[in-house]
Amino acid sequence: MTESPELTFNDGNTIPQLGYGVWQVEDNVAEDVVGKAFKAGFRHIDTAQGYKNEPGVGRAIASSGLNRDDVFITTKIWNSNQGYEATLSSFEESMQNLGLDTLDLLLIHWLQPKQGKYVETWKALVELQKQGRVKSIGVSNFTKEAITEVIEATGVTPAINQVETHPYFNQADLRAFEKEHGILHQAWSPLGQGKELLEDPALQQIAEKRGATVAQVVIAWHLAVGNVVIPKSVTESRIVENFAAVDVTLDDDDVAVISGLDRGAEGRIGPDPAVSDFQ
Ligand code: NAD
Repeated sequence: MTESPELTFNDGNTIPQLGYGVWQVEDNVAEDVVGKAFKAGFRHIDTAQGYKNEPGVGRAIASSGLNRDDVFITTKIWNSNQGYEATLSSFEESMQNLGLDTLDLLLIHWLQPKQGKYVETWKALVELQKQGRVKSIGVSNFTKEAITEVIEATGVTPAINQVETHPYFNQADLRAFEKEHGILHQAWSPLGQGKELLEDPALQQIAEKRGATVAQVVIAWHLAVGNVVIPKSVTESRIVENFAAVDVTLDDDDVAVISGLDRGAEGRIGPDPAVSDFQ
């Protein structure tokens, strides 16, 4: 069976580059769709406390028949649980929900600049990694400035930053900064949430040339530029299609055309992490 490529973190651990995201998947649906994702070949699942489906993901892991070492699980500390002590206790809650003893990757979900607790929260993640409860630690929705701040406060560089990234909002500047610091870039809403992006004529043309779907071409672009990518679908045929994107090859010209679709800040779909605080 085809496997996802693996990328290596700055802490020496590895992550399957293509994963499966479960935002907006109801808990009672999560077991079924994560099971389908495993069947399609996905071994990396991206959940979060805020998605309220950690128990369903946990049930899918338990019933998968896969070895614990063969699956890579990410969860995230929700905004209302930021702060040193709250992070430590909410992490234990997540682990109970997931039915796991150790986690592969723990992220701070949002920066929450006005709340201003991200440095304390990062210190709790550093402690959990030291204790061996979490293999790798990272951030999500962090700016260059906030990344610099947590590194300066702890001496520990995040393994990864998960942020909105797709061809209309390709984050070239942030990606260059992360590369300089040995931080992997992870793309959320990698398909632009399945909206306008998937009807783009330039992408349709490349898809036709490559005998692939537009979603596959977008996923193949993420893989080609070095992003860790976590497309979501609850439809089995699309789950299979999205995983099969690992077999789609793009040449340098295709990659350049897709990278050229960037619309800068206008291409953003979700909240701007630098200014958004919400619970
Ligand atoms: P996405 O870009 O993955 O788009 C998902 C939508 O695209 C689906 O609901 C479906 O409508 C469509 N789609 C999927 N596969 C398709 C296919 N093969 N053909 C046609 N349409 C298809 O959007 P997303 O769910 O926002 O992002 C993916 C994952 O990223 C989430 O599930 C979650 O794990 C993560 N995420 C993280 C954050 C964060 O703040 N860290 C925010 C948003 C999402």
